[in-house]
Amino acid sequence: MRHQFRAKRRLGQNFLLDSGILARLAEAAELSPADTVLEIGPGTGNLTRELARRAGAVVAVELDRELAPLLAETLAGFDNIHLVWGDFLAQDLPRLWELAPPGPGGARKVAANLPYYITSPILVKLLTGQSAPALAVLLVQQEVAERLLAAPGTRAYGSLSVLVQFYTVPELVLKVPPRAFFPPPEVSSAAVRLRLRSNPPVDVQDPALFFQVVRAAFGQRRKTLLNALLGGLKWEGDKAALAAALKAAGVDPARRGETLSLEEFAALTRAVRSAQADGRR
Ligand code: SAM
Repeated sequence: MRHQFRAKRRLGQNFLLDSGILARLAEAAELSPADTVLEIGPGTGNLTRELARRAGAVVAVELDRELAPLLAETLAGFDNIHLVWGDFLAQDLPRLWELAPPGPGGARKVAANLPYYITSPILVKLLTGQSAPALAVLLVQQEVAERLLAAPGTRAYGSLSVLVQFYTVPELVLKVPPRAFFPPPEVSSAAVRLRLRSNPPVDVQDPALFFQVVRAAFGQRRKTLLNALLGGLKWEGDKAALAAALKAAGVDPARRGETLSLEEFAALTRAVRSAQADGRR
C-alpha cells in the first residue's frame, strides 16, 4: 500500500477499494448537504471522501494514527471533515455530534465499513443512548447482517436482532464479496441500513428490564424459557410465581427464548415487572 502502510488484522483493517461499492454505500446513506455523517474507522479515507462529497459535514473517528499520512493525502482539499483520533467506543457520542451539528432540516447519520471485531458494542453504543443517528449504513460480516434481520425462531435470531429491531427498521442494502477489499477478509460482508424508529414497535415502560429479559432468554439457549429466566434474572421469588408471570403474558414456560417475538418479549417484561412488584409487597 501507499506510504509502506501494512494493514493491521487486529484492528479489522480491510480497506474497501471497489469504487462502485464505495459510491453505493454513500448513496445508501441518503445524504443531503444539511446532514452530518459520522464514520467509524475512516482507514485510508476512500469512503470518507464519498461521504464528504454528499454531506454537509463528516466526523470520522480513527484509532490508528499510522494512517494519518494516507488519510491526509486522500482527503486533501476537503474542508468539511472533522477527524478525531481515538477509540470510537471510548468517545462521548453527543460530543462527536457537537463537532458539526446538522444544518436546518438535516439529520445525524452514520456510514461505516466497521471494524468487525467490535460490531456489537458499536451497535449498542449507537442505538441505546439519546444521540442515536436517524439512519445508519453499516458494512458488517454477512453472518452478522443475517442476525440483524433475522425473524423469531430462526437460527440467526438472537439478542442483537431484538436490540436492532427494537430501535430501528433494518434492511439489506448489498452483499460485498471479499475481493472488494484489501486485504480480503476471510468472510463475506453485507451492508445494512438501519432506520431509527420514532417510537418503539412494542409497549415497553422499562427498556432496561426488557433487555435484561431478552439477554436472560438468549443466555442459555438449551434451557426452557422458565429456567433461563430464573438464572438470568437472578429471580429471588419462587419458581411458581415466575411461571405464573410467563403464563399471564401468554407465553408457555417450556418454550425456548429464541422463538419469542418482540411483542412476546414486551408482554413478558410487563408480567415480570408486575410479579417483581408483587414480590416486594
Ligand atoms: N473505512 C475504511 C474503508 O472502508 O476502507 C476502513 C474500514 S476498516 C474495515 C476498519 C477501520 O476501523 C480501520 O481503519 C481501523 O483502523 C479502524 N478501527 C479499528 N478499531 C477502531 C476503534 N476502536 N475506533 C475507531 N476506529 C477503529
